[in-house]
Amino acid sequence: MAVLSVEELTTNYRTLRGWVRAAEGITFQVAPGEALGLAGESGCGKSTVALSLLKILPAGGIIRKGKIVFQGQDLVPLSEHEMRKIRWKGISIIFQGAMNALNPVFKVGDQIGEAIKTHDPKVSNSDVKERVSKLLETVGIEPSRANNYPHEFSGGMRQRALIAMALASDPSLVVADEPGTALDVIVQAQILRLMRDLKDKLGLSMILISHDLSIIAETCEKVAIMYAGRIVEYGNAVSIFKDPKHPYTQGLIKAFPSINGPRVRMTSIPGQPPDLLNPPSGCRFNPRCPYVMDVCKRVEPMLEEHGERGHTVSCHLYH
Ligand code: SF4
Repeated sequence: MAVLSVEELTTNYRTLRGWVRAAEGITFQVAPGEALGLAGESGCGKSTVALSLLKILPAGGIIRKGKIVFQGQDLVPLSEHEMRKIRWKGISIIFQGAMNALNPVFKVGDQIGEAIKTHDPKVSNSDVKERVSKLLETVGIEPSRANNYPHEFSGGMRQRALIAMALASDPSLVVADEPGTALDVIVQAQILRLMRDLKDKLGLSMILISHDLSIIAETCEKVAIMYAGRIVEYGNAVSIFKDPKHPYTQGLIKAFPSINGPRVRMTSIPGQPPDLLNPPSGCRFNPRCPYVMDVCKRVEPMLEEHGERGHTVSCHLYH
């Protein structure tokens, strides 16, 4: 059974100008011990999906339709009180921007300890201290650094501390929202290696959100490509990277350099993502698509299986 099964999730933001259709008809599954990569340009709805899973949407954000079935239970109808039991213990999140996510006036060890105590109030202070030390060790930080403040940590260490915090209550699923953003490439690679190791060692299920396909290719078994609030291609990572079917996925892959492949000129996808207050009719990618046909402007394509088993794509080219 899947740890998480998201079915037709639709999350919109209510604004004075109307509904921003940030995520619509989102469907995917995460199996135990599996990593799913959620990829796409900024503003495509990836983070909205992440925040919906934990029901921590900003003001105006509303789940209008769909199910989020976590370990057999639909989270959508749960109250705030019931959701508190799921957050961190069931599903935890690693936010982007480690400096903003840590409180600058508390020691790092105390912040991790607080995460443990909040969800397990009966645990003794000495046990908390021991668990904090173990968690810091797990993420590659010397336990004595628990007494440091966030500003005494490097960017990579702060990100590691956030990962330790996300693991504090032994969650079954970790959502990592652009965990390497704002770090230099070497530290970014170290953080991703750590995430991969933790996933293998602890048997964690993971959702990794990134605009960088190379990060997802290295870490995830499954991929969902999002464009303008919709999943446009979904399936096994090897199948999608070897045989991308949606013109948007093809464009994304061409926009990243290959270290081993022949030297080719990098190409970008022309145009801008649409305004989600008023997305284009038919296929939302049609204003930017090099293969656009008449039907694309009228009829929204459905996600359907093409090629390998479980590889789905929403594009009229395959009908
Ligand atoms: Fe391009 Fe049409 Fe396919 Fe959309 S449905 S990606 S516009 S070919």
